[in-house]
Amino acid sequence: MGIGYGIGRSAGIWRRVSRAAGRALAAGAACLVAIASPAAAQDGSETAALVTDVELERKGQGLRLRLTLADDVAPDYRVFALTDPWRIVADFPGTAWEAAPPDPDDLPDGAAGLRFGLFRPGLSRLVLELDRPMRVERVWADEGRFTLRLSPTTEEVFAASAGWPEDARWLPGVDIVPEVRGVGRITVALDPGHGGVDPGAVVDGVVEKRIVLQFAEELAAQLVATGRYRVFLTRDSDIFVPLSERVRRARAAGANIILSLHADVVTEGNAQGTSVYTLPEKSAEAAADRLAVEQNRVDVLYGADLAGEEDALAHVLIELAQRGTLIESRRLADSIVAELAPTLGVLRTRPHRTVGFRVLKAPDTPSVLVELGYLSSEIDRFKLTNAPWRERAAGALVRAFDAWAATARPGFTAPREVKDGQGG
Ligand SMILES: [Zn+2]
Repeated sequence: MGIGYGIGRSAGIWRRVSRAAGRALAAGAACLVAIASPAAAQDGSETAALVTDVELERKGQGLRLRLTLADDVAPDYRVFALTDPWRIVADFPGTAWEAAPPDPDDLPDGAAGLRFGLFRPGLSRLVLELDRPMRVERVWADEGRFTLRLSPTTEEVFAASAGWPEDARWLPGVDIVPEVRGVGRITVALDPGHGGVDPGAVVDGVVEKRIVLQFAEELAAQLVATGRYRVFLTRDSDIFVPLSERVRRARAAGANIILSLHADVVTEGNAQGTSVYTLPEKSAEAAADRLAVEQNRVDVLYGADLAGEEDALAHVLIELAQRGTLIESRRLADSIVAELAPTLGVLRTRPHRTVGFRVLKAPDTPSVLVELGYLSSEIDRFKLTNAPWRERAAGALVRAFDAWAATARPGFTAPREVKDGQGG
């Protein structure tokens, strides 16, 4: 398997280069810092490598990132830098990950975040977020190992070397979209948050993207078992799906309602218990909301920043359309709180809250977001990783759906055709 590196704006494609250890690379030369890939792995049809360990260490004034692989193969890679925030991105075709995402508190000085996982079928991505500009000093791959060395640089030098390679952004339609399950009058889109390169919250080895997918599968099974619901999952595997794509998929599946599932952390206080979110009355409120900013920020980080998506006109349309769907969203949210409170316990103050998450802004589909619990709470972590709890919680949500569906106004949604290329 060939390894090596290449520099140049022309190198927006994977290309075969000679087998050689990477040397120091000229900073500011081009957007693509390093690349090495045999053509065979490009379609990502098979997994060529398994990453078993990811290590990030402080080295002098810089950082050293090291991946360990299960086999004696040198991984193919492509490395590039991006600004706002400063980050180094490494793409690996045909690579799977066994290593667990690190706890953000365990990161060394200089690193602001480290995430990795499947970005789209056949392509994995690692994103190292920096709290100061650093340049790639050396990158090399050899049998069973990939190493990246970073050293401090100036903002100007970093910016000059940063930029997206042509095909590096997430493209709609490259993913395999899950199928609708079950039969029934109402189609529920379950939307497990995060996935792939975006792990969501990570505390003590408990990873949000896994917890919410597990829960979504449990809830889907229970909803389908009633024979009253068709169920669609916006993702049914550990893969990255941008927020706007989730909404697009749900609408394309004819969803009458979207239920997003999360289990985030709180940085202040010690909140615990389930809470339910719907859109606020005024979207100005939403824009100011810190939670919403955090949530929407992840797409920009990983490469799904779809320009022009939230322009002024879109905002007006959303405003108009939401007047009809907000009522249904809120009725379901209240129904969920009513069912969860006696069985499981909900957030003590205001269990039903309003927030401007982008995934809640489906113009013609009522949307509710459930924070199943907070990974920052030890009690919630215990619950969320506990199968009997998940079964009971899913059961309570099925009852909430039943209560809501019994009085849902006819024509509360009209599933519509989705225009090609519209991000939702
Ligand atoms: Zn989340």
